Amino acid sequence: MGIEAVLQQEGFVTTKLQKVVNWTRRSSLWPMPFATACCGIELMATAASRYDLARFGAEVMRFSPRQSDLLIVAGRVAVKMMPVLQRIYEQMTEPKWVISMGACASTGGVFDTYAVVQGVDQFIPVDVYVPGCPPRPEQLIEGVMAIQRIVDEDGIPPASGKRVPLDLVVEPTYQPRPQPVDVTIGQS
Ligand code: SF4
Repeated sequence: MGIEAVLQQEGFVTTKLQKVVNWTRRSSLWPMPFATACCGIELMATAASRYDLARFGAEVMRFSPRQSDLLIVAGRVAVKMMPVLQRIYEQMTEPKWVISMGACASTGGVFDTYAVVQGVDQFIPVDVYVPGCPPRPEQLIEGVMAIQRIVDEDGIPPASGKRVPLDLVVEPTYQPRPQPVDVTIGQS
């Protein structure tokens, strides 16, 4: 029964404040897109009219981390880029969530090289992994819905405003390997 029908019959509804807070949070996720490669195109398609991420209240892409609460990493991340990604994550407001979209963001994908991070979860906490190369927009939408389910169940303490960690993250252990050949610029 919808809320309109209940209000017509009873004239009032009762609920818990925590449920209302989680409901508003889940219904107005503001994504921070960190799109570095082809997965980013699918991310754009997800927000466009055909798949219409607005149906899930998550279409307001912000390009400022301080206005975002959902980081979507879409594409491969180079070792040199990782400090930037970490900085963006740290600047985002609490509570915040992270989607790793596609094989490259989650595992490095086919780019098993010294220059590409073999999974962003070695450096930032990831809540939901969306598989695929690239994932279809429907899959990303399922990922967003998974985040919404997490928000519903997280039970964020109102006092601290910080979410309960999912403990999915492995400790950062990645050590960039040295250059395979000596690179000297300016020598003939
Ligand atoms: S997972 Fe596939 S589609 Fe996505 S960035 Fe990597 S190569 Fe491109």
